[in-house]
Amino acid sequence: MRNFLKSVNRIVVKIGTSSLIHPNGKINLDGIDQLAFVLTDLRNQGKEILLVSSGAIGVGMAKLMISQRPCEIPLQQAVAAVGQAELMQIYNQRFLRYSQQTAQVLLTRDVVDFPESRSNVINTLEQLLAMGILPIINENDTVAVDEMDHTRKFGDNDELSAIVSQLVKADVLIMLSDIDGFYSENPTKNKHAVLYSTVSVINQTLLDQASGEGSRFGTGGMVSKLKAAQRVLAEKSTMVLANGKPPRIIFDILAGKEVGTLFKGEKI
Ligand code: ADP
Repeated sequence: MRNFLKSVNRIVVKIGTSSLIHPNGKINLDGIDQLAFVLTDLRNQGKEILLVSSGAIGVGMAKLMISQRPCEIPLQQAVAAVGQAELMQIYNQRFLRYSQQTAQVLLTRDVVDFPESRSNVINTLEQLLAMGILPIINENDTVAVDEMDHTRKFGDNDELSAIVSQLVKADVLIMLSDIDGFYSENPTKNKHAVLYSTVSVINQTLLDQASGEGSRFGTGGMVSKLKAAQRVLAEKSTMVLANGKPPRIIFDILAGKEVGTLFKGEKI
């Protein structure tokens, strides 16, 4: 049933903070290294890859030795600015180990609302892909946008990854989280929760099953992942939500194996 995933070409991978930072707050270098290895190998297979990475605040907290996520917005922004530079340095180093060039792209979600910005972003991403460079995309946490809900904004790249998929017309969005997929309820709270293998429509019942409460570092939670899936389904595209530990799971997903939750419209 998932055989079609073997032939996808343009892939957006989103990695959450919880896959990049250990529970003790230190950076998961092995996870990042494996991610660089897997994504570079996919590039070597001729696929086009874009990475949407959270983690700036988590990495900033590790660098500045802050143990509690700051509440104040300017402090979050400052920590994110420190962390983003550090995160890119780590990514560059790991990807270069496998001879893969990367580029940093910082976006705000409203790019889709402004035709000029939208086309600038598309042009940049398309050019990078044409040059064989792997874009590493994050939300620009320094740019304040009044309409944004700042309590949700940070660390929640789920929606941004769906927007990026939409902009580049990706064949699939692979969303890596700290959980094996979408369950009938939060499995960290109820061990009898059942994993959905496939979801074709996001309705209110499903949204209610995603309690919205995330991990210590991730802030998006399951609701924002479902909202991203909603956007992807509206584009008649595909999303797979799976556990990013280990990142090699991406190979299994693209081999058509039944891992994680597949979000795919009925008609396709
Ligand atoms: P990430 O940082 O990897 O993006 P989040 O912590 O933001 O991940 O979101 C994943 C978390 O969502 C899970 O660890 C789990 O605690 C929570 N969650 C809430 N409802 C559900 C559900 N129905 N199925 C799976 N996970 C859920």
